Amino acid sequence: MADRGSLIIVSAPSGAGKSSLIAAMIEARGRDKVQVSISHTTRAPRPGEVNGQHYHFVSQKEFMQLIDDHAFFEWAGVFGNFYGTSRHAVEAQQAQGVDVMFDIDWQGAQQIRKHEPDAISVFILPPSRAELERRLRKRGTDSEDVIAGRMAKAVAEMSHVHEYDYVIVNDDFDQALEELTAIVVSSRLRRAGQSLRHKAMLNELLAEGA
Ligand code: 5GP
Repeated sequence: MADRGSLIIVSAPSGAGKSSLIAAMIEARGRDKVQVSISHTTRAPRPGEVNGQHYHFVSQKEFMQLIDDHAFFEWAGVFGNFYGTSRHAVEAQQAQGVDVMFDIDWQGAQQIRKHEPDAISVFILPPSRAELERRLRKRGTDSEDVIAGRMAKAVAEMSHVHEYDYVIVNDDFDQALEELTAIVVSSRLRRAGQSLRHKAMLNELLAEGA
């Protein structure tokens, strides 16, 4: 078996700082070591989002065809839109020995865990409800109803925190980044992967009568 990268699921409510943390982690560690999986979605691009970079933006019809073709590793309906992870893309990244991060919701996390028990899952929390609300408000001049809706969605996502292996509280960004990096680095040091990577060295170390 070739050297395969780890699968690292990262979930969080909107406002926890997940995307910035993932981007900073990949920047710091290097794209040759860790990459993010680029999902397909039926939602419209937000200003500044680039097709193929933030998401593969597809129509509902195209998404349904991909489901029929079994092209998804996992997929879910999230807040009225569909999101899915391409099986082929993940396998290609993993085969290069690159660790793959999934910025996905709790539904996708459940599906990946079921098929890939070695996948690691991380949940990122905001430090308090008040801070979460402050961060959700910062996003524009939305009505109280819109803010309340975002809070309710965030609480629904956070109710799945107990299903995850690791929890990071994103109060101080640099500390949260250090913690996420520590998880990714330690996933790389698990015995099964290390035995494959260092096969020749282990054989030499364990040779009898040397
Ligand atoms: P947004 O529309 O704000 O980019 O993402 C909304 C939610 O969908 C986030 O919680 C994000 O993690 C989740 N999401 C993004 N891509 C995927 C995916 O491929 N699968 C699943 N299950 N969730 C996803």
